[in-house]
Amino acid sequence: MNHLEILRYYGIRAQKSLGQNFLVNDEILERIADSIEITGKDILEIGPGYGALTEKILARKPKSLTLIELDKNMVHILKSRIAEKDLIIPPETTFQIVEGDVLKYIPSPHPNPLLKGEGIKESVSPLLLGEGSGVRWKGGILKYVPDLSDRDVPRHVSTGYSIIANIPYYITSPILFRFLHELEHKPDEMVILMQKEVGDKICEKKWYHHSYLSLALQYSCETIEEICPVLKENFIPAPKVDSSVLYFKRKQEYDAPDAKRFLNITSAGFSAPRKKVLSNLTNALHLPKEALSKIFHDLELLETARAEELDFRKWTEIIEKIGK
Ligand code: SAM
Repeated sequence: MNHLEILRYYGIRAQKSLGQNFLVNDEILERIADSIEITGKDILEIGPGYGALTEKILARKPKSLTLIELDKNMVHILKSRIAEKDLIIPPETTFQIVEGDVLKYIPSPHPNPLLKGEGIKESVSPLLLGEGSGVRWKGGILKYVPDLSDRDVPRHVSTGYSIIANIPYYITSPILFRFLHELEHKPDEMVILMQKEVGDKICEKKWYHHSYLSLALQYSCETIEEICPVLKENFIPAPKVDSSVLYFKRKQEYDAPDAKRFLNITSAGFSAPRKKVLSNLTNALHLPKEALSKIFHDLELLETARAEELDFRKWTEIIEKIGK
């Protein structure tokens, strides 16, 4: 069935509260699926909806595919499509659907193979949902602070899975922080369709300056690039704004205490974005103003600089000079 037939057949009404905007352009869906290696890989798809992108992923025969979907109705539709062979799981693919909130999902380094090839009986596993995401949301994209407390494994080694997703806009930052900072088992790479304005901010396009979000992602990724813009007309229902697809390749080494310091200090620097970064750091971190002034002087930074004017390298230099 094509997209319109699926929407009609299942009587799908998009739920605004769940950020449901279905991408119905097959060329773009193919392009997203082509942007990372899928064949033979472990793939996680967040928010599959009725399975538009899922279909493209399955056609590329991943080693495993885990779908995480919060909407019961979508899970039911996915299961029906599999039962009706409208969505075909290749025999080489281990497949599971997790019904629940992606922000509570804890990926396992040893995925639990629930379903291989055909059949859907045991495809929903609530067991993989953790106790809670530990997310703290201070309101607004820039103020999100991930919970990095009590990590007992400071250096992360790759667990070798990739994420591909058209995510709900309303949890873009929490998803990025969760998978690139908070979780112990982080993905190697991610391809994410998000609101264009947020994508531009992350890529630091010219009319945006540096942001807490872009700096936090540069800390954990060696590559961040835009794959393609996606106009709003390609969705049903069409959102108010355009989107873009971003690719993230994670740095293999991740030192949690260092990351925590980087995020704490940059977050303090952005605490009042219109004020001088020097005052923000003095007030939020209770550091002596003279010591910070000297650091700024040594790094040839203006004392009047705002947080958004400092790039990733400058921030790492400031943090290094502040010391542990
Ligand atoms: N992937 C589909 C597509 O491309 O057409 C649907 C994308 S739609 C933008 C986002 C999907 O994420 C919806 O299916 C929605 O139900 C699901 N969703 C919303 N909040 C979620 C959450 N917290 N955890 C998991 N899935 C969620």
